[in-house]
Amino acid sequence: MHQMLITPSGCAGRLGSLVLDCAMPATPVWQQDFCLYRGEQKCAACTRLCPTGALTKDGLDKARCYQHLLEVNAYYADLGLCDVCGKCAVGPCALRAPTIKKGKA
Ligand code: SF4
Ligand code: SF4
Repeated sequence: MHQMLITPSGCAGRLGSLVLDCAMPATPVWQQDFCLYRGEQKCAACTRLCPTGALTKDGLDKARCYQHLLEVNAYYADLGLCDVCGKCAVGPCALRAPTIKKGKA
């Protein structure tokens, strides 16, 4: 629901690339949607955690979200670029994929 990628390791992470010159087996692609709301029609923690109302069950208002990021950036101007928020990424899918009851996903 929060528009971010949820993997078996959750959603609160960052993706990077590492270029190697060696053969490696491909990891399997998971097909499951790990979002509890879409799986069981409950949770929606991310929408409640959003401090701006940008994220709702109807979708993400990206302009409203980004406006908040700019406000955070201005507040912490002494830290350099700081246009962040991420409150929507601290719910039950943050650190691992939540367990969806069998037959519900
Ligand atoms: S917080 Fe809940 S509703 Fe939001 S993306 Fe994670 S599992 Fe889905
Ligand atoms: S980053 Fe912050 S403002 Fe944007 S959708 Fe997530 S919680 Fe809401």
